[in-house]
Amino acid sequence: MSFSAFALSPKLLEIIKEEGYGKPTPIQGRLIPRLLASHSVIASAQTGSGKTLAYLLPILESIAPTEEPFRHYNKAFILSPTKELAQQIYEVLKPFALSLGLRAVLVQGGGNRGEERSKLKRGADIVIATPQRALEYMEAKLIDIKAVRHFVVDEADMMFDMGFITYIDKIFSLMTQKSQKIIISATITPRVVKFAKGYIKPLERIELDPAGKIADTITQELYPVREGKKDMLLAWLISHYQFERVMVFVRKKELADGVAEGLRTWGYKVGILHGERSHQERKRSLQAFREGEYRILVATDIAARGLDIADLEVVINYDIPHVKHDFIHRVGRTGRAGKEGRAITLVSPGEIEQLNDLHKLLGSRIKEVILQEYAPKEIKARGFLLSVPRKSSTSHSRKKQTAAPGGNKKGKKRKTTKRDGFKAYDEAKPKTQKREKARRRGRR
Ligand code: AMP
Repeated sequence: MSFSAFALSPKLLEIIKEEGYGKPTPIQGRLIPRLLASHSVIASAQTGSGKTLAYLLPILESIAPTEEPFRHYNKAFILSPTKELAQQIYEVLKPFALSLGLRAVLVQGGGNRGEERSKLKRGADIVIATPQRALEYMEAKLIDIKAVRHFVVDEADMMFDMGFITYIDKIFSLMTQKSQKIIISATITPRVVKFAKGYIKPLERIELDPAGKIADTITQELYPVREGKKDMLLAWLISHYQFERVMVFVRKKELADGVAEGLRTWGYKVGILHGERSHQERKRSLQAFREGEYRILVATDIAARGLDIADLEVVINYDIPHVKHDFIHRVGRTGRAGKEGRAITLVSPGEIEQLNDLHKLLGSRIKEVILQEYAPKEIKARGFLLSVPRKSSTSHSRKKQTAAPGGNKKGKKRKTTKRDGFKAYDEAKPKTQKREKARRRGRR
């Protein structure tokens, strides 16, 4: 299938070609015809699957000027939970808007109010906004929500998670019944569906992948790690695998600062992205990371959504996110648009409950990699006991990754590089417990 199979104007098809988009992705194949037919939808598809273009093209087709003179009033309105995603949507849109003679305006928290206001006053066909700023300009009558014919809520579930529900509710209540509403994310929660049903009738559901599905192009690994050893393991992983572009996700802002500081002591150039950094700092960090000035970007889950960073080879989860489905978004920063990606997750004994929940969400267990130097002696959780041989090697090497513990029936140590899941540990439990008891007795 090619883009020309859709009812898109020759001009739009020309820009698609110029911008180097090949064939439509599966979500584009499903969504574009429905949106061109003016349906309101709630849609979910994997991270990095081309959702932005899937909703932008039909909107552009609908609002592109056909006759002069053309008035710049708000015809399309796109809401994003974060500034970074808003900026990115704007960047995707920009070449289309320029070629089609449409005016696109970006308004976002931390943005220059004077500039934003004057741009809105001059007229905007498409407004891309973060929720709080959007509402501010709606109240100041700088955005005419009644004129809006197409309304998009991108990464909808994150809006809800971030507590933007009152803003979204207000915006929806002001929108005309006739306007087309598009709610989209890689993970759509039942809460979002319930909300959407309240405002959108009829509502069409387009679900390309089961909820929580991670792209097949992404290889996942789980590294059990002793408490307090994550920083060392993180630095080791980056150096050992010589990752050139790494995104490290952490739960908390303070932790992001600390982890970044730790990595800097190893001589790495590291950017930081979290909610307590100023707009300029966030912008600068992301830009420097995109341009390769920073090798590592340490971020909280604010950066987990939608960000498209070219050739990001690996995502490292320093921990498991508070909101479980954010894990899918974190991991989805790599392996985008059909490319290969790698996701590494570090888990300490205190996080086993969260890991179990995560495995439930994913519907499968992540492959474990045991490094003797870092792996916990034992991790007890829900009847599973993880343990590794206490003997530690002197240097790190991939070959020396030794699977834990116990041994085979003849009592010989089993040596493998990688193993799946917890099963082997469970089998090894009695022997390990015996050894542990003997060790304690010896101490006494
Ligand atoms: P998105 O999910 O919208 O963030 O898009 C993920 C990545 O896929 C971006 O780098 C897009 O430029 C790219 N992309 C989107 N549509 C296509 C397409 N039809 N062909 C190739 N790449 C695409």
